Amino acid sequence: MEMEQPELRMRPESLMMSYGYKPALSEGAIKCPIFQTSTFVFKNAEEGKSFFEVAYGLREKGESEELGLIYSRLNNPDLEILENRLTLWDKAEDCAVFESGMSAITTVLLGFLSPGDALLYSKPVYGGTSHFIEEILTRFGIEIIGFDAHQQEEEIMKAISDRGLASKLKMIFVETPANPTNALIDLAMCKRISNALASEDNQPLIAVDNTYMGPLWQHPLQHGADFVLYSATKYIGGHSDVIAGACLGSKALIAEVKAMRTFLGNMAGPWTGWLLMRSLETLKARMDLQQQNAIEVAEFLTKHPKVERVYYLGSIEDKNQKRIFEQQCEGTGAMVSFDIKGGEKEAFRFLNNLKLMKLAVSLGSTESLAEHPASMTHAGVPIEDRIKSNITDALVRLSIGVENIEDLKWDIDQALAAV
Ligand SMILES: *Cc1c(COP(=O)(O)O)cnc(C)c1O
Repeated sequence: MEMEQPELRMRPESLMMSYGYKPALSEGAIKCPIFQTSTFVFKNAEEGKSFFEVAYGLREKGESEELGLIYSRLNNPDLEILENRLTLWDKAEDCAVFESGMSAITTVLLGFLSPGDALLYSKPVYGGTSHFIEEILTRFGIEIIGFDAHQQEEEIMKAISDRGLASKLKMIFVETPANPTNALIDLAMCKRISNALASEDNQPLIAVDNTYMGPLWQHPLQHGADFVLYSATKYIGGHSDVIAGACLGSKALIAEVKAMRTFLGNMAGPWTGWLLMRSLETLKARMDLQQQNAIEVAEFLTKHPKVERVYYLGSIEDKNQKRIFEQQCEGTGAMVSFDIKGGEKEAFRFLNNLKLMKLAVSLGSTESLAEHPASMTHAGVPIEDRIKSNITDALVRLSIGVENIEDLKWDIDQALAAV
């Protein structure tokens, strides 16, 4: 795709309606049409040859040359424009979009890890990610070593060297804040670990699943990460109607990610690209309102007599966690978890009595959602790990949407009254 010179002094939210799209190339349509096509016609054989030379790396791309349109498993205008728009939020050089968050995550892990390499990863991570790391990567001879938000740097470094993995470490994968309790992992610490274990020909890559905070409230690339990963199903899509994923980073690394994506064939389709472009136009407005609502919900819960403890980034008490928050987060987010007084019975009564909020997993959407991590999203986490991460039977997780705040508070209040 040809690109207009970006107005880079403008904020991303001002550019989401136009960036990277030229109406003149599409009959003047103000919106990018859905390019529902599998293949693209070359002007002549020479052009086809030249496009393939770049696609297969037979020659370097010219300074301002973009990869020509060939076939929709490699590229498609809806995806390329979407990728360009996504780079603005994280100030990334490049982006690759995928058919799901899981495909973005697994493609990066498979693309950069080989048998004999070691992966350091934070715990807990998303259930699908943890299964892929623990049950599938290990089948391919990749050594894995987990750590949690409570472990100090020295302890993690010692665990790596005790296992003899110091020279094998290829990647550090973290999810911060951790789902569902908002425990934060220090990205600066991850960078120090990567630097401490770097050798002449190996600098461990840092990949951060930023689904919980991005792309507005945390920008891991600015804190030393090499990859930012998203389940675009969540805030980016934002309407609970599409599954998608994204990976952002430097031009060189994303070129490798896109090569792997071409062979796995897990790129998003044009419809997904179009839906996400539509979503991006309201991303800032939605996320701002969700956060504002979440701050009020957290405050309301903190004062409620039937609530034992609230886990929200706006009300961190631990000193070290507070320091990490101030260092790397730019917002408090819209995910609020809390311990209800009692256990599963009380938590279920609360969930079953909600009238406005929906009882469903997933997060980051316009509608507020509630769920019970111990028996739902985190049912597969071993009980010892669940206890360590405060995922008890009393824990309820809320994803706050864009509804009127008084209606949300009324709903929570009446559901707690039924307990
Ligand atoms: C939902 C989610 C994923 C998986 O994304 P899909 O789009 O469902 O494949 C990965 N990480 C986090 C933190 C998530 O919330």
